[in-house]
Amino acid sequence: MLSVVSIIFGALIGSFLNVCILRLPEEESIITPGSHCPRCKNPIKFYDNIPLVSYVLLKGRCRYCHCPISIQYPLIEGITAVGSLILFMKFGPSLSYLFYFSFVAALIAITVIDLYHQIIPDVISLPGIGVGLLASLIIPQITFLNSLLGILLGGGSLFLVATLYQWLFKREGMGGGDVKLLAMIGAFLGWKAVILTILLSSLIGSITGIIIMVSKGKDFKYAIPFGPFLSLGAMIALFYQNEIIFWYLRYRG
Ligand SMILES: [Zn+2]
Repeated sequence: MLSVVSIIFGALIGSFLNVCILRLPEEESIITPGSHCPRCKNPIKFYDNIPLVSYVLLKGRCRYCHCPISIQYPLIEGITAVGSLILFMKFGPSLSYLFYFSFVAALIAITVIDLYHQIIPDVISLPGIGVGLLASLIIPQITFLNSLLGILLGGGSLFLVATLYQWLFKREGMGGGDVKLLAMIGAFLGWKAVILTILLSSLIGSITGIIIMVSKGKDFKYAIPFGPFLSLGAMIALFYQNEIIFWYLRYRG
C-alpha cells in the first residue's frame, strides 16, 4: 500500500521536475504562471495535469489544439516514480528515503537540463551541497565528516583538473557546473562514492564518446556534456557502492 503512495509521490515530483527543466534555464519562476500549452497558450486544467494518467487519457495531445505533447513529460514522471519506489523499498518510510530521493530528483533535473542547455544550474547544485551536509547530521547512512570530505574531494579534484586543463590548453574544458555537481554528490554520498563516481563517469563517458565518434565520424564537434555521466555514475555508486568496493577488494591481484 505504502509502495503505491511512493509511486504516486514520485510521479508528482517528476511532474514538478518537468516544470523545473523547462523554466530554470530560462530563469523563470517555477511557481507562477501555471502550465500552459506551448503552442495554443491555453492554460492546462488541473484534471489535464495529472502525472502519467493525463498523457494517456489525452492520447499524448493538447485538449485544445491537438498538438502532440512531448514524450519527455510522462518519461520524466515515470523515471522519477520508479526511482521513488526503488528507494522506498530500500529505505522504507524514513528520513533516509526522503534524503536519497531528493538527491536522485536533483540528478534527474540536472541531467536533462545539461543535455539540452550544457549548463548545470547553481540553484540546484549549491543548495544541494548545503542540504546534503546538514542532513548528514541526522541521516544514519552518512556521517557529517564523510559528507564534508565528500564536498572537499568532489569539488577540489574536479577544480584541480579544470584549472590544470585551462592552464595547459588555454581554454575551458570542464565547466564550473561539473565541479559544483560533484561537490553535491560528495555531500550526499561521501568521499568513497566521489572516487567511484569519477571512475564510473569517466569510463561510461569515454565509451559513449567513442561510440558517437565512430557512428557520426571523426569530425563530430558537438561537445558532450559531462553532467549526465556524473549523475549516472553517482546513481550507480548510490545503489552498488558496497558491492563494487567489496568486489574490488576481493579480486584485486
Ligand atoms: Zn495546445
